[in-house]
Amino acid sequence: MVKEIIEPVQHIPVRAEVDVLIVGGGPAGIMAAEAAADKNLKVMLLENRSYLGGNLTIGLPILGFLSRKGKEIIKGLPLKFVKRLRAIGQATEHRRCPLHVSLTMIGGEASKKLAMKIMEENNVEVLMYTFCSDVIKEGKDVKGVIIESKAGRQAILAKNVIDCTGDGDVAARAGAIVEKGNEQGGMQPPTLMFSMKGVNIKKLCESVADYPELYDVDIIPNEFFRVDANFTLVGMRNQIKQARKDGLHIPVERTIVMTGIDPDEMWVNMSRVNGVDSTDPASETFGTFEAYKQNDEVVRYLNGYVPGFENAWVDKVAPFLGIRESRRIIGEYILNKDDIMACRHFDDVIAVASYPIDLHHPVGGDCTLEWCPDCYDVPFRCLIPKGVGNLLLAGRCISTTHEAMASTRVMSICMAVGEAAGKAARLAIETNVKPADIDIKSLQENLREEGVYFRSKK
Ligand SMILES: Cc1cc2nc3c(=O)[nH]c(=O)nc-3n(C[C@H](O)[C@H](O)[C@H](O)COP(=O)(O)OP(=O)(O)OC[C@H]3O[C@@H](n4cnc5c(N)ncnc54)[C@H](O)[C@@H]3O)c2cc1C
Repeated sequence: MVKEIIEPVQHIPVRAEVDVLIVGGGPAGIMAAEAAADKNLKVMLLENRSYLGGNLTIGLPILGFLSRKGKEIIKGLPLKFVKRLRAIGQATEHRRCPLHVSLTMIGGEASKKLAMKIMEENNVEVLMYTFCSDVIKEGKDVKGVIIESKAGRQAILAKNVIDCTGDGDVAARAGAIVEKGNEQGGMQPPTLMFSMKGVNIKKLCESVADYPELYDVDIIPNEFFRVDANFTLVGMRNQIKQARKDGLHIPVERTIVMTGIDPDEMWVNMSRVNGVDSTDPASETFGTFEAYKQNDEVVRYLNGYVPGFENAWVDKVAPFLGIRESRRIIGEYILNKDDIMACRHFDDVIAVASYPIDLHHPVGGDCTLEWCPDCYDVPFRCLIPKGVGNLLLAGRCISTTHEAMASTRVMSICMAVGEAAGKAARLAIETNVKPADIDIKSLQENLREEGVYFRSKK
C-alpha cells in the first residue's frame, strides 16, 4: 500500500480562459497551435521546457515526408515549416533513403526560433516553464487543466484541449484508457542524442563506399554514400563486434550516425536504456544516468573504430533523454500493423503517412524494420480518446498498437496529425459541437485548402 497524504482543499486561481489549449510544444503541438489559430479564437500553447520544438531540436532528421514510391505526401503546415527552414539554409531537400524511406535534415536551433516566430505571427499565447499536472473535468468532458510553475498551482479553462505531450499526460489524467509497450509491457528504449564536430565526413563516406567488405551497412547499398552527402548511416556491425571483443561496452548492435546541418557535424543515436518508463521520474532519471555512461563508451568506439571520427569531439548533448515510446491512448479506432502493411484507406482520413514499422527492441540492442509498400491513411478516430470529451490527441500518443506506433511516431506524421487536430478543435468551436462530432468532410476540406495531401479512393 502506497503511503498517502490528503491534500487540503485549495482555491486555485484561473490564469486564463481560452478556446483551444494545446499542451506540449513539440512537432505535433506547434502544428496544432498554428492550425487552431484564428483571429476570433484564443489559442494557448503550454510547454514545460524553455523552448518550443520538442524532438525537432535534438539533431534528428524529419523522416516520412515522402512515400515509399517517392511522392511528397506530407504537405500542409509541416511542409511550410520545412520550406521556411530551407529558405534560411536550415533544412535540406527531402532525400530518399532505402532504409528510412526519406530524410529531411533540419537545424534544431533554427527550429526553436521558427516555432516561436510562428506562434507570434498567429497570436498564439505561449506559456513556457509550465507543467500540466492535472485536468479539470465535468462528467466525461475535459474543461481545462491544472498547471504548476514558479507562479504556483493555477487553472486554465478551455473549450477544447489537445494533448501533444508525447506521453499522453493530459489524456491519462483525464482517465482515458492507456496502454504501454508490447504484450509483456516492453517499450522501445530511449536514447540520449549527442553531436560530434570535427568529423571528416568525406573520409567516412569514401571508406564506406570503397570498402564494403570492411564497412557493412544495413539495407542501403554502400555506393549510396558516394553520391549523397546527407544521410543516416546504420550498420558497421563488424566494427561493433570488434570493439566489444576489445572490451568496449556498446549498447547497440548497429552504428547509427547521421549528418546534421553543419559540414563537419554528425549526430549519434546509439545509447539504449532498456526498461525505462518516462512516466516515472525515477525511471527516467536512471535512464539519463545510464545513457550518459553509455555515450562515453560510444565516443570511445567512434573515435577508435569508425573512419572519419578519429579527431571528432562531443559538441552538443541533447537536453533530455529522447523517449521513443510510453503511453498510447486508446481511442475510437486503434491503428494496427495490418492497416499499415495493407496501405489501408479510411473514410475519416486526416493524414497520409509512410514510414516502416521501425521497432527498437525493448530488450537487447537490435532493431527491426518492416516497410509498407507505399503509404497509409491515419483516421480521425485515432485522435479521439475513448470515453473522454473535449479532448483530442496528436503526436506520439495517438491511438495505435505498439507496432503501428513504431511507424506513426516519426515527426512528419506527428506534425501532420497535429495540424489535423488543431483544425478539428477550431472547427468544433466554429460549428458548436464537440471535437468528436465535427463534420469530417468539412475537416478534410479545411485541410485540403491548406495543401494537405489525400489519396484518391481505390
Ligand atoms: C532517440 C529518438 C530518435 C528518433 N529518431 C527520429 C528521426 O530520426 N526522425 C523522426 O522523424 N522521428 C524520430 N523519432 C521520433 C520522434 O522524434 C517523436 O516520436 C516525435 O518527436 C513525437 O512528437 P510529439 O510532438 O508527440 O512529442 P515530443 O517531440 O516529445 O514533444 C512533446 C512536447 O511536450 C512537452 N511536454 C510533455 N509533457 C508536458 C506536460 N505535462 N506539460 C507541458 N509540456 C509537456 C515536452 O517538453 C515537449 O516539448 C525519434 C525519437 C527518439 C526518442
